[in-house]
Amino acid sequence: MIAEIVTVGTEILLGNIVNTNSAYLAVECANLGLTVYYQSVVGDNEERMKAVIRTALDRSDVVILTGGLGPTEDDLTKEVTAEVMGMPLVEDAHSKERIERYMKEYKKNNSQRRITSNNYKQALIPEGALVLDNHNGTAPGLILEKDGKIAILLPGPPVELKPMFTEEVYPYLRKKQPEIIYSQVVKICGIGESQVAEDIQDMIQAQTNPTIAPYAKIGEVHLRITAKASDEKEGKKLIKPVVRELKRRFGRNIFATEAEKTLEEAVVDMLRDQQLTLALAESCTGGEIAARIVNVPGASQVFTHGFVTYSNRAKRKCLGVKKATLKLEGAVSAKCAKEMAKGGCNAAEADICLSITGLAGPDGGTKETPVGTVFMGCCYNGKVVTREFHFTGNRTKIRQQATAHALAFLRE
Ligand code: ATP
Ligand code: MG
Repeated sequence: MIAEIVTVGTEILLGNIVNTNSAYLAVECANLGLTVYYQSVVGDNEERMKAVIRTALDRSDVVILTGGLGPTEDDLTKEVTAEVMGMPLVEDAHSKERIERYMKEYKKNNSQRRITSNNYKQALIPEGALVLDNHNGTAPGLILEKDGKIAILLPGPPVELKPMFTEEVYPYLRKKQPEIIYSQVVKICGIGESQVAEDIQDMIQAQTNPTIAPYAKIGEVHLRITAKASDEKEGKKLIKPVVRELKRRFGRNIFATEAEKTLEEAVVDMLRDQQLTLALAESCTGGEIAARIVNVPGASQVFTHGFVTYSNRAKRKCLGVKKATLKLEGAVSAKCAKEMAKGGCNAAEADICLSITGLAGPDGGTKETPVGTVFMGCCYNGKVVTREFHFTGNRTKIRQQATAHALAFLRE
């Protein structure tokens, strides 16, 4: 089924209110397996609303409208939709009683406010419409069905819209749309996006159901596998062989197959499983790697020290980097990274020390060592492996990439 979202309200049209409702509804439609091709925003204007609603009902099976359901003169969504669909307005006893009850409660707590005749406008519903109770406000939601088309009218305030959607609209649409969307993510580190895309090109070309879509994150590539299925069990079954194939192709580069699992969690899990302790010797990342490791509950079981040795003096004093190394090779060098890692391991008496030293810019770049150059060292069992990276972007971006790649390096 094709769904379309129409947001009503001049404040949204002019950008005074951020349209969070449409984002929320679009995500929910996708979860329901509904296809969304169009979203539109229209001001509180009768003629333009009519035109938008008519067009939407023409090209989509389900039109979800939000806003303009309130009691005031400029709230026109119900009147206009009913007219476009040719459904006359009639008084709904149930809604009237509910509004009276709600207003009485409200009056108790807000003595100045009167029940106005406008409030009763809300008890009028298009004949044959399904009324959705609003437990957080007065405007009931409505579902209008006619000639195979569905219009769903929801109040504008998100606190009213969201519960109404999950409690009433979702189950309603679920019945209309028996197919669900089931998806799983496979997270990869240590390989760039283009390499990943190339490695799965054949799978992407051959795909129908499920489909695979790559998303690049800083230092990570996520593959989202999405299946259309009749239920979760079938969805899982469809996705399983694809995940198996991805595991075969990417092996250890896959660090998670759950949406919630982060790269730092994968690193901490790995160290914990192997009963190894970790120290970090950071320069250009200034403790960012340590901060991410410490984000993981239970990091204390593996993480012992984080040295932030930003100056040459600190590198010498805390990590024992040689004066000659700093003088001849510079702080941004493989040799310095190596000595930092080794020194960190010794000072912390940890099993592993990862070091990082680089040039995040914007100033200080030279032809030999341009901005974005980063060296990492990983000391384990007395041996140090070093890596050289060249990142691009601004200072923040370079440091974020360096941090992500350091975590990926540790994960190896
Ligand atoms: P009310 O009974 O409050 O008048 P309504 O259904 O008529 O509800 P609107 O008048 O269009 O809704 O909007 C009421 C308030 O709800 C807005 O001032 C705004 O704070 C919020 N709102 C409306 N539409 C959106 C939207 N698309 N995204 C986020 N917030 C919204
Ligand atoms: Mg309103």
